[in-house]
Amino acid sequence: MAASAGPEIERLIALLSKLPGLGPRSARRATLALLKRRDQLLGPLADALAAARDRVKTCGVCGALDTTDPCAVCNDQSRDQTLICVVEDVGALWAMERAGAFRGRYHVLGGLLSALDGVGPEALRVRELVQRSTGGSVREVILALPATVDGQTTAHYLAERLIPSGAAVTSLARGVPVGGDLDWLDDGTIAQALRARRPA
Ligand code: ZN
Repeated sequence: MAASAGPEIERLIALLSKLPGLGPRSARRATLALLKRRDQLLGPLADALAAARDRVKTCGVCGALDTTDPCAVCNDQSRDQTLICVVEDVGALWAMERAGAFRGRYHVLGGLLSALDGVGPEALRVRELVQRSTGGSVREVILALPATVDGQTTAHYLAERLIPSGAAVTSLARGVPVGGDLDWLDDGTIAQALRARRPA
């Protein structure tokens, strides 16, 4: 670490280096960029961080992050309340919203079941999901979980737990990505796309 930087600067570098995708080297570069552009960057960033700290909360219904509880999606009466899309985390929810194709509501699990990491159902928002889906007002639960071992284990577990709710449980189709060249796809993706084929 640069011996010439003061403790405030070192502290900023140390904190920034904890962010995903930023190691110590990029944290130093980011710190330098912030300090060089104090008015245009550092000030507004500090304000945005303070506002996020003070105002962002977790939605008590779906588990998303927003400044209101319930969140904007849960509050939106034009969205289909009979559809729930289950996602691993808020990042996945944002990805679904960016795609703009889903007009129902969400349920953020807060992780995936993992035997290896010792994550059981009680560590996730499973009980809340079963509660929301039971009672007849939800007609379909869409499991939009990663195509990984943990993702699929979690999907199977949730499908079992949701049987008594009476809601239909579906999963996202997997297959050839838009613009995808078959040559570049891994064998698993091609095999899944072939299994999930439909009339042309
Ligand atoms: Zn919500």
